[in-house]
Amino acid sequence: MKLAKRLDRLPPYLYVDINRRIAEMRSEGIDIVTFAIGDPDMPTPPHIIERLCREAHVPANHRYPETDSLPELRAAVAYWYRERFDVRLDPDTEVLPLIGSKEGIGHIALCFVESDTVVLVPDPGYPGYSMGTMIAGGEPHYMPLKEDRDFLPDLQAIPGSVASRASLMWLNYPGNPTGAVAPLEFFEQAVEFARAHDIAICHDAAYTEVYFDGKKPPSFLQAAGAKEVGIEFHSLSKTYRMAGWRIGMVVGNKEMLRALFTVKSNLDTGIPQAIQLMAVEALRGSQSVVEEHNEVLQRRRDRLVKVLDEVGLHARMPDGAFYVWARVPEGYSCVDLARELLEQVHIAVVPGVFYGAGGEDYIRFSITLPDERLEEGVRRLSGWRGGAR
Ligand SMILES: *Cc1c(COP(=O)(O)O)cnc(C)c1O
Repeated sequence: MKLAKRLDRLPPYLYVDINRRIAEMRSEGIDIVTFAIGDPDMPTPPHIIERLCREAHVPANHRYPETDSLPELRAAVAYWYRERFDVRLDPDTEVLPLIGSKEGIGHIALCFVESDTVVLVPDPGYPGYSMGTMIAGGEPHYMPLKEDRDFLPDLQAIPGSVASRASLMWLNYPGNPTGAVAPLEFFEQAVEFARAHDIAICHDAAYTEVYFDGKKPPSFLQAAGAKEVGIEFHSLSKTYRMAGWRIGMVVGNKEMLRALFTVKSNLDTGIPQAIQLMAVEALRGSQSVVEEHNEVLQRRRDRLVKVLDEVGLHARMPDGAFYVWARVPEGYSCVDLARELLEQVHIAVVPGVFYGAGGEDYIRFSITLPDERLEEGVRRLSGWRGGAR
């Protein structure tokens, strides 16, 4: 077989060893509490499911969807952006629904990346940004996110020679895995940087609706001039607990959306229409489901961070997203620590290095596990004494 060389350029999937060990332990009957899951544990709210059930019976929804999606969905996205962020969008040219945001995050690389193009990528960060870049033949340039800079990249530290070769910059706030929220002023600085170097910005806003203490994170599009230089990816997966239905959207700069649509319209045939109508229901329906979800997550966050602190795994309190990014104690690598927690107290976490070299000194706990499982996990953690050694 003559497999394409681009596949060789991709790094191996790092989590595979630990996943194999988890499967092995489970087959031996060992009960593992997993803090390694990346989507909500609670089901999709019932009113959204009801809409799917009704729409599933409508024959028009059995046919190919329109590739650029139902006008009704694009209008619902524009409505939601106005309500939530006071951002105005033209539903015909500034909104593009996606088969989950990951799909668009991968495909946008094909619009901006040629061999040797540089893409600015946060480190640690969601692996999709660098993977999409590498599949398209480009080269990620990692922007370190440091705890003492509130996990914001230092734009001034990006060398001029790198900026001049870069076509795209990825940002993600609230951040996976850091849980950091960016202030609007940071987005304004990013817009200025993008203008100065002719770089397009992609903001991944998958977690803007997962926040705590009622403090709602901003949209990148609220920054002055943002729409001239960038787009924002959104997901219904986290906000409305719809990860399994595969629907998201991207909004903002027309030219970028047109380019992405050109690629997409040749690779996919849109989102199943009944699922588009679930999204309309979610975006136009009562938003109390978001607040209720966040209250549960906040209780879990507070509980976990406190216990982690007691056992010597210190973590900054996350302001958004549903992860706790805990520092690895002296004397451990993140992989050693993840392995030790698995072997000794039967807890699964993700080693930070999975999110890039900048994650070496961290492990990621997800709080999307049922309360009683979280309690069990916390009980086991309290019995672990490694952090104090
Ligand atoms: C979960 C996640 C996504 C992907 O979401 P989908 O819409 O389900 O594809 C994108 N970005 C980040 C940072 C995520 O954590």
